[in-house]
Amino acid sequence: MWDVDDTLFDFSGSDRRALSRHFQAEGLPPSVASVERWQQATEVAYGRLAAGELTYEECQRQRVAGFLGRTLDDVAADAWLRRYTALFERAWTAFPDVTAALAALPYRHGILSNSSTAHQERRLTALGLRHHFEVLLCADRLARAKPDPSAFLAGCEAFGLPPEAVAYVGDQLDTDAVAARDAGLVGIWLDRARSTATVSVPVGVHRVPGLADLPRLLAALGE
Ligand SMILES: [Mg+2]
Repeated sequence: MWDVDDTLFDFSGSDRRALSRHFQAEGLPPSVASVERWQQATEVAYGRLAAGELTYEECQRQRVAGFLGRTLDDVAADAWLRRYTALFERAWTAFPDVTAALAALPYRHGILSNSSTAHQERRLTALGLRHHFEVLLCADRLARAKPDPSAFLAGCEAFGLPPEAVAYVGDQLDTDAVAARDAGLVGIWLDRARSTATVSVPVGVHRVPGLADLPRLLAALGE
């Protein structure tokens, strides 16, 4: 079972490219500081959404207002965000090791994501990857989210397999790999940044620096 964002889908890279183009098109400096300000505004707005303080539409407008430092009227804010979203969708890319890894892994595959079903259906389809996954579970329909063990167990149930027969691969050490291990699955941390010099890998969690290392790891675990 797989995480999507920053595991299969290069969310951060796609977003950085889209933001750079969007800022230029809007006459703003495409600088690291602009990207950081946008990420900060996004984090604050999504925090307020999660706290129930904003509706989804208000959250999106709040991202724009937080970033620009001024409030646009709703029509202008929605249009600003739509221009960014169009560039983001055009920039969508999977990591270059995904297709080969899926082809080299003779297992059943599924998705467990904390994003929404509609988003991940669209993304995986646009990336040409959707057909690899017989199960697609997202937090919105599950009403449970990682790191809650019940989210992982729902994934195992969808496959009709016990947790120990299921591996979970994700880029977040705690939310993905440790949480999967705690739910009884094989927890695999995809550490693309190779951060092992600064982060120690917890007992019972497996680390791979790229997806090309997965076939060997899973074959060894299956023995
Ligand atoms: Mg992720």
